[in-house]
Amino acid sequence: MTASLQTLTGKSLIAGVFGWPVSHSRSPRLHGYWLRQYGIDGAYVPLATPPAQFETALHALPALGFRGANVTLPHKEKALQFVDHVTPRAQRIGAVNTVVVEEDGQLHGDNTDGFGFLEHLRDSARDWQPQAGPAVVLGAGGAARAVIVALLDAGVPAIRLVNRTIRRADEIAEALSGDANRLSVHAWEDRADILSDAALLVNTTQLGLAGQPPLEIDLAKLPTEAVVDDIVYVPMETPLLQAARQRGNVTVDGLGMLLHQARPGFAAWFMVEPQVTPALRDYVLADIPAAVP
Ligand code: NAP
Repeated sequence: MTASLQTLTGKSLIAGVFGWPVSHSRSPRLHGYWLRQYGIDGAYVPLATPPAQFETALHALPALGFRGANVTLPHKEKALQFVDHVTPRAQRIGAVNTVVVEEDGQLHGDNTDGFGFLEHLRDSARDWQPQAGPAVVLGAGGAARAVIVALLDAGVPAIRLVNRTIRRADEIAEALSGDANRLSVHAWEDRADILSDAALLVNTTQLGLAGQPPLEIDLAKLPTEAVVDDIVYVPMETPLLQAARQRGNVTVDGLGMLLHQARPGFAAWFMVEPQVTPALRDYVLADIPAAVP
């Protein structure tokens, strides 16, 4: 990929992404596309920040004149502690991925991963309604928690959470104990049995990611009306999505979640509501390898 040249002025609006490492992040390409598309005098830069320096670097944003920043691995949970205030959804997810510098220099933290997941799901599976029936969520990592909070907040009546390490699923259920009546934890071995009457199946594990083993799950009990969503986006069509599509389920890929989660940050920093378009999708996709060796 070649970087494009950009002319900045003294009034340029600046944001960036904290990560360690940060070189894998798609966010500079994504925000750079929107900055060019909307002709904004601004820049979005990678901020490679080791964990030991993260707090200092984050608190330097106002002094450096930054509008804010995204936060990616491994800093998302720490960011929740280091900002001045957070949105209720970030608190519930337990992590911050978007920081906005307010006029008085305070740092406002949000988590837009669940928002991105839900926006893309609604966009791609137009007939899916949150109330349609139970959702089965595979995985109990950071991404799972964002997905679960988004589904709960959207009004999904029941969520069945399945994870290889059941302790991690129990921890999410404990953290979201206010929704205990809608959130149940199940053993990994039972993942195929709990698909009957589900309206949505979401894979948030790394299984199916290029270089990882495929997700093994028997879909026989899943209604063909159910939507199958895989948040893994390398490859775009995972073995799970392929199997689901072949038996007639509507499928949703992971790339749209990445694109939509970026919208609230861009709007806050650069004061334009950006659109997720097929052209943006193609542009980001062009930089994603089909398979990891
Ligand atoms: P994470 O916190 O490390 O969690 C990884 C999850 O995968 C855990 O539930 C883990 O189970 C499970 N897992 C890993 N290997 C497994 C195996 N062999 N068998 C069964 N389960 C296994 O990672 P994360 O941040 O939540 O991310 C998870 C995936 O979502 C990644 O592939 C990431 O690329 C993708 N993601 C996509 C987006 C997007 O915008 N589309 C955003 C965030 C993440 P244990 O608890 O048992 O280890």
